[in-house]
Amino acid sequence: MTRRQHSPDGQLVPCARVEPEVFHSDELVGLAKSTCAGCPLGEACRLRARTNREWGTWGGETSRERANAGYAPHGWTRPNPAAL
Ligand code: SF4
Repeated sequence: MTRRQHSPDGQLVPCARVEPEVFHSDELVGLAKSTCAGCPLGEACRLRARTNREWGTWGGETSRERANAGYAPHGWTRPNPAAL
């Protein structure tokens, strides 16, 4: 899935100004979440990522959070609880 550049009203969405890697790095989850906070597409983005079983942070929701909500990304394997 490609990140959107503009909201329906033509505004540049926050993630368009941030390197895409930010949304796929465990170390940068806080930055990804803060980037998504307040985005007008947040809810739609989160739902689309759940539907498409995406990896990464979308709509402020991480891969792990989607998995915990029952929408695990393709290829997701349950983490070893001992490693958490
Ligand atoms: S919710 Fe986040 S990933 Fe989705 S369009 Fe907005 S800023 Fe980008």
